[in-house]
Amino acid sequence: MLILTLSRPVEKPDKIFIAGHRGLVGSALVRQLEQDGFANLLTRDRAEMDLRDAGDVDRFFAQEKPAVVILAAAKVGGIKANSDLPVEFLLENLQMQNNVVRAAHDSGVRKLLFLGSSCIYPKHAPQPIPESALLTGPLEPTNEAYAIAKIAGIKLCQAYSREYGANFISAMPTNLYGPNDNFDLVSSHVLPALLRKAHLAKQEGKRELVVWGSGQPRREFLHVDDLAAACVFLLEKYDSPEIVNIGCGEDISIRELAELICDVVDFKGDLAWDTAKPDGTPRKLLDVSKIHALGWRHRIGLRDGIARTYQWFLENET
Ligand code: GDP
Repeated sequence: MLILTLSRPVEKPDKIFIAGHRGLVGSALVRQLEQDGFANLLTRDRAEMDLRDAGDVDRFFAQEKPAVVILAAAKVGGIKANSDLPVEFLLENLQMQNNVVRAAHDSGVRKLLFLGSSCIYPKHAPQPIPESALLTGPLEPTNEAYAIAKIAGIKLCQAYSREYGANFISAMPTNLYGPNDNFDLVSSHVLPALLRKAHLAKQEGKRELVVWGSGQPRREFLHVDDLAAACVFLLEKYDSPEIVNIGCGEDISIRELAELICDVVDFKGDLAWDTAKPDGTPRKLLDVSKIHALGWRHRIGLRDGIARTYQWFLENET
């Protein structure tokens, strides 16, 4: 493994640009960096800079000259949005990441963290999925466009490392949840969707909550505050272009997740299964032994994380 030793670690006064600061991941990163004493954070709203526009991005980097970049901006969505909009997921993610990674190199950024996703791995990867499973088999069709874009982003960062010695690192988070998630019933991921569904079912006195698919697929869920802590850890301690998985190391079935959410929300009705909806990949559990060996572990348990997220939902989305 190539370890770059020339770069300084990230330091508190560094100008850090968080691309995508309003999203689930970006907003958690801003909270974590502020809490850790990083005082020079750079953010831009979509109205001020369109990351899909190379001119906008070049002007920003030339003007602001950030020392460090975290690329948390992406077009994201759950299983339905992903399979309905492959053009947008492929094109917009490629545009954003190409513009930011190239401008970061051209303007002399010292360190960049690219955020991928566990869906980059083959549909039938060994479980738990080690980093070495990348590009060893066909992808899950329901999120292939997003996965291909993310794989291209990893490869671009690795190419800049190999060709120009850039300290561009890539982390692969598992399924995330927490404050500022998308709680829309059609385009969201399963956890926020079920939180809203259970809340509405309870409020409306329904007897039944409809869950997509068979309930059999297994997923791993990480609270986004844990992810943000892992990102800061990697920025300070990890300088290799080899990808790193970030997860909690445990998975549960969608049925168990639905039951847990009903419990937290206190919805006492039954679960019904809409098997016309796709299950997606059968299992997605990351092998987290690499980040454990580096010295990082998650802290927020799933029940506690869901309870905190439900509280945030009540305060912000109702
Ligand atoms: P994935 O991890 O890329 O498959 O994305 P999702 O989080 O969207 O879906 C995970 C699993 O949860 C799939 O098997 C879905 O069919 C299932 N699921 C059950 N109910 C829902 C729901 O209301 N919304 C979503 N997005 N998924 C659901």
